[in-house]
Amino acid sequence: MTLKKSFETIAVSGVSGGDKATGAISFPIYQSATFKHHGLNNSTGYDYSRAQNPTREEAEKTLAVLEGGKEAIGFSSGVSAITACIHLFKSGDNIILSDDLYGGTYRLFEETYKDFGLQAIFVDTTNTKNITAAINENTKAIFIETPSNPMMKVTDIRAVAKIAKENKLLVIVDNTFLTPYYQKPLELGADLVIHSGTKFLGGHHDLLAGFIVGNDEQILQRLRRIHMSTGATLSPFDSWLILRGIKTLHIRLDRAQENSIKIAKFLESNSNIEKVYYVGLENFEGYELNKKQSTGFGATLSFRVKDKKIVPKILESVKVIRFAESLGGVETLITYPITQTHSEIPEDIKKRLGVDEYLLRLSVGIENIDDLIKDLENAINSVKS
Ligand SMILES: *Cc1c(COP(=O)(O)O)cnc(C)c1O
Repeated sequence: MTLKKSFETIAVSGVSGGDKATGAISFPIYQSATFKHHGLNNSTGYDYSRAQNPTREEAEKTLAVLEGGKEAIGFSSGVSAITACIHLFKSGDNIILSDDLYGGTYRLFEETYKDFGLQAIFVDTTNTKNITAAINENTKAIFIETPSNPMMKVTDIRAVAKIAKENKLLVIVDNTFLTPYYQKPLELGADLVIHSGTKFLGGHHDLLAGFIVGNDEQILQRLRRIHMSTGATLSPFDSWLILRGIKTLHIRLDRAQENSIKIAKFLESNSNIEKVYYVGLENFEGYELNKKQSTGFGATLSFRVKDKKIVPKILESVKVIRFAESLGGVETLITYPITQTHSEIPEDIKKRLGVDEYLLRLSVGIENIDDLIKDLENAINSVKS
């Protein structure tokens, strides 16, 4: 009898449960560029590591099962996964994207692929009327992030999938923030899921990785060709680090989320803070919708200070929390989106979204919660306003 394994069990042991040949509990790192053939038309199934590598395959298969997809493809970074998705389209095509999203995604579309004739239309996807209004005869896909970065705006994945189906468009969801542990976009009607594995999947701020997960055989086959042809494939060692990171994904996320809720409540109660953006706060706009399509809130939150003069003081004064870009690791990081992660977004869009000099973003880790709150409290109160 085959046992139906749950998320945590698959995360811990990976799809194959270690190395079949030797019994090694830790899946081996196949650090080889090429593979010997037994004879003509008789290979082990592996030829060259850009095309496929056993360690990468184990990471891909494990993530595919966790996301509820048929197949996952491992890339050398999140943006290389997004780049591969872009290669599904051609000059003249138009893609509708969330206006509040990872700065690098914006740069990729607007700086690199605009010259190739690809048109990107950025709209507030939290109101699906904006999506419908932006669709024209050249529209091929809708690309969303939910909760979004850095304003934590929630887009209705089911509603977007319905619009997409009616108009024969692909739905691509960047699921980096919630991971399959909390949100499974494919089950809600998305066609492709993208990850920056650099963040929660890796979980330790020590690697770069990206993934695309999907169910449609034809699209996956095209993406495999793009992956192998353009070459930004995930290395054996980073594949192993991803497998290692995924083992504790559920534990890390649960603790980081628990810490995030407490930090969000602390910030809300602090007189120097104007607003907290976190989907785990019951009074936050996207709270109800997020609950309908996911099982968690994640560990990324933003907050607005009342006086922008305290921003440099906070960034200089934190001692446990580190002032650094990125998110999703065990260490708590604080960033200043306007000059860091979102420096590339045009001023008018940033202004409309509220990504301004008053906004800070936290990626909450798994340190002791009292240490984290004391650190924030000291940093915020280091300024007498
Ligand atoms: C970091 C990030 C990316 C880009 O991933 P890299 O691994 O840095 O290339 C894409 N989307 C989101 C939501 C991210 O946070």
